[in-house]
Amino acid sequence: TETTQTRTPAWALAATGSRDAESAPPVADVELGPTGRPRRSIPEPAPLSSHGPAKIIAMCNQKGGVGKTTSTINLGASLAECGRRVLLVDLDPQGALSAGLGVAHHDLDMTVHNVLVDPRVTADDVLVHTRVENLDLLPSNIDLSAAEIQLVSEVGREQALGRALYPLLDRYDYILVDCQPSLGLLTVNALACADSVLIPMECEFFSLRGLALLNDTVAKVRDRLNPKLTVAGILVTMYDSRTLHGREVMSRVVEVFGDLVYDAVINRTVKFPETSVAGEPITRWAPTSAGAEAYRGLAREVIHRTGR
Ligand code: ADP
Ligand code: MG
Repeated sequence: TETTQTRTPAWALAATGSRDAESAPPVADVELGPTGRPRRSIPEPAPLSSHGPAKIIAMCNQKGGVGKTTSTINLGASLAECGRRVLLVDLDPQGALSAGLGVAHHDLDMTVHNVLVDPRVTADDVLVHTRVENLDLLPSNIDLSAAEIQLVSEVGREQALGRALYPLLDRYDYILVDCQPSLGLLTVNALACADSVLIPMECEFFSLRGLALLNDTVAKVRDRLNPKLTVAGILVTMYDSRTLHGREVMSRVVEVFGDLVYDAVINRTVKFPETSVAGEPITRWAPTSAGAEAYRGLAREVIHRTGR
């Protein structure tokens, strides 16, 4: 039943042909994924015999509540399940990433904040192991909110995070940076040292608009600070296939962003808020759930695309 049927405005659907596509007969023997496209076939990730240098992925969207932190935790845990060594970096003063992994971040004396503003503090001084094997964390708390102001007057203020992570690159296969919901200096620090940006986006009509601004910022950082920066992909989160609105936004997203959209799609489910309370990734809290499987699928796509 379509209880939340908010219709997408007609102008946004111009030339999508989404309704025609929906009524087209399915091609035999092709499994269509939630994106409406055939699923790409992705090999099982090969085990690694050696580790590093890490690929840095910035988990970025200036809109709050779109699943950045949830995706950082669960992509990280899924990559770790594949035998990858993963470091998660909490770059949001709210500390939700740290909390979501069961780290008592309020009480920490040393956090990412110290690493960014005090040259005597190294990332190793604040690094903690999580309960998940192969998954480490650089935690943060509200102290980090001072960093943007403290960094403004520094030389190389956009490279503070890159300098801090550099000594760790050889120990990890992936470093995922959970950005705060803004395009301020902390987020620019993440983009300036990242190989790529992974954009979680809530499957809602208005989410599309913010992506243009994010794309401009990515392009600016690429031009001015980090020529290697690419968009890794777009992850559709909080999808509800039962509503027409959800399906319409999905087809629009696929039309606009094409192959950048991951086949893995994260459904809206109360299991994710529950995992935040439990302080565990969904791959441990509800290992056989659809949500856990979706993030495992995302990990396979990320490994396949980055070749690591
Ligand atoms: P962000 O980091 O972008 O602000 P979060 O990952 O913190 O977003 O998610 C915002 C809220 O939505 C959290 O309460 C989280 O538990 C919840 N949430 C995340 N992903 C989903 C999902 N797929 N379905 C339902 N709730 C979700
Ligand atoms: Mg967050």
